[in-house]
Amino acid sequence: MNTCHDCQAKLLNHLYGLLDDADERGVQDHLKVCEPCRAALATAQQQRQLIAFAAKGEFPKVRFAPPAQPVAEPTEAAAVPLPQRSWQRWAIAAGVALAVVGLGLAGGVSCYTRSQDADRAAMERLTVPRAREDPA
Ligand SMILES: [Zn+2]
Repeated sequence: MNTCHDCQAKLLNHLYGLLDDADERGVQDHLKVCEPCRAALATAQQQRQLIAFAAKGEFPKVRFAPPAQPVAEPTEAAAVPLPQRSWQRWAIAAGVALAVVGLGLAGGVSCYTRSQDADRAAMERLTVPRAREDPA
């Protein structure tokens, strides 16, 4: 790690002690020779103090401490098996959905046809008298 970009991307993890040994060494080596990154580290430290101050004002009784006993990693045996879903449930649900959609389409087509018939009848009522007047 040689660039300021790499170093500054790891500054927060450096502050909280979350870097592995190689990254930590790289950050510290870079900070020794780079003034802009030291300035960025100082800014991050100030921000961390501000956040801690704000958090203490909001939650004064909260304390962070490592767990007394190491927390066991979850094992596969502890995982709850998912319930088996049968394809028949999905087939029934899909059939019901298709029936509902089909009924909706049929109703929509029926309404549309009826409204077209009404329009055609209205047009005929309007045009028939005029057709009778023309030959005269
Ligand atoms: Zn730098």
